[in-house]
Amino acid sequence: MDKRFVYADNSATTKISKPVLDAMMPYLTEHYGNASSIYSLGMDSAKAILKARETVAKAIGAKTGEIYFTSGGSESDNWAIKCAAEVGASKGKKHIVTTVFEHHAVLHTCQYLEKHGFEVTYVPVDEMGLVHISDIEKAIRDDTCLVTVMFANNEIGTIQPIAEIGALCREKKVLFHTDAVQAIGNVEINVAEMNIDLLSMSGHKIHAPKGIGAMYMRAGINLPNLIHGGAQERSKRAGTENVAGIVALATAVSECTKNIAEKQERLSKIRDRIIAELTKIPESRLNGDPIKRLPGNVNISFRGIEGESLLLSLDLEGICASSGSACTSGSLDPSHVLLAIGLPHSTAHGSLRLSLSDENTEEDADYICEVVPRVVEKLRAMSPLWERILRDEDIDAE
Ligand SMILES: *Cc1c(COP(=O)(O)O)cnc(C)c1O
Repeated sequence: MDKRFVYADNSATTKISKPVLDAMMPYLTEHYGNASSIYSLGMDSAKAILKARETVAKAIGAKTGEIYFTSGGSESDNWAIKCAAEVGASKGKKHIVTTVFEHHAVLHTCQYLEKHGFEVTYVPVDEMGLVHISDIEKAIRDDTCLVTVMFANNEIGTIQPIAEIGALCREKKVLFHTDAVQAIGNVEINVAEMNIDLLSMSGHKIHAPKGIGAMYMRAGINLPNLIHGGAQERSKRAGTENVAGIVALATAVSECTKNIAEKQERLSKIRDRIIAELTKIPESRLNGDPIKRLPGNVNISFRGIEGESLLLSLDLEGICASSGSACTSGSLDPSHVLLAIGLPHSTAHGSLRLSLSDENTEEDADYICEVVPRVVEKLRAMSPLWERILRDEDIDAE
C-alpha cells in the first residue's frame, strides 16, 4: 500500500475546518473592532458574539445567557471547580466528588484545592472505564459542594451515565459539573434534560482553533469570577473578547452537532473495523468499553513494546497517534486512566490511542490496519521484553 498521511490524534487536537476558517476570517481581518466600543465597527463584533452565544446555547439545550466564552477547556474546568468550591466553603461545605480518571485540568485543580483545605473523594471506575452511579451516591456527603464527572474520557473514550448522575445530584441538591470537551459533537447533550449545572467545552477538539472554549452555567448559579478585570461576558469573565475564536467555536459547535446519529454510525463502523483487525494481533487488548465508547476512539495495548517507539515508527509511516506511555506525557508513570482500569504498568506502556474525526475515511482505516500489525511485529522482534513474555515470565512481578 502506498504511504499516506493519516491524522488519527483528534482527541489531542483537530485541524481547523473550512467552514470554521471561513466564518472566523473576517474577524481577523476587516472586522477587528473591540466588542465594547460604541461605533459600528465595535458593534459588529458585539453582534457576532451574541449570535455565537445563541448558537452554542441552542446546541446543548441551554439559554443564551447561560453561555460564557473562555480560553478553553482547562479554564472552564478551573472556573467551575475552583469557584464552586469557593461558594461551597462560604456555606461550610468543603467536600468535592470526582473520579480517578478525569482529565488533568480537573484532577490537578482538585489536588490544588486539597492543599487549600478541601477534601476530595476520587470515585473509582470499573475495568471497562465506567463510573458506577452507586459509587457517586455513596461518596456524596452533607458537606459536598460539587460533583464533577467527565462526559467522555479522552484516552479510552468511555461515555459516562451523565443523565443519571445529573438526576442524583439534583435530588441531593449538589452542584454538578461535567467536562464535555470530548463528548460534544459525538453524543447528544441537553443540559436541561440531563440536569447539568456546569459544563466545559473546548474549540480545538472540534475543528476550531486552540485557545477558545466555553462554559455553560445554569441560570441562578452565579459562580464568582475566575478572571477579574473588565466587564466582558456580563462581568463574569474579564478580557477583551476573542471575537474570531468565539465565532469559530460557534461555527464548530453548530457543525459538529448536526447529524450526530449519522456521524456516530459512520465513524463507529470504521472504529470497530480497526478494533477488530488490531485485536487480532497476539497479546493485545482493547481498553475501555466496546459499546459505551466515543465513535472515533480506539485504544489498544500491545504487550512487549513501548508506546513511544510505536508512535515514532508510526510517524515514519505517516500516521499521527497517541500513547498512554510515560515519556510522551513527560512523567515516569504511565497514564493514570489505564492504571485506573487495572492495567499492569508494562501493558499500559504499550498502548496506542487512535482518535478519528469526521475527516477520516475507510482508506485511512485500511492503511492503519496494514501498518500497525507490521510495526508491532517489527518492534517485538527487537524487544527483550517480548522474548520474556514468549517464555511466559511474569514481567510485572519485579
Ligand atoms: C483537551 C481537553 C481539555 C483541555 O482543553 P483545552 O482547551 O486544551 O484547555 C480538558 N478536558 C478534556 C477531556 C480534554 O480532552
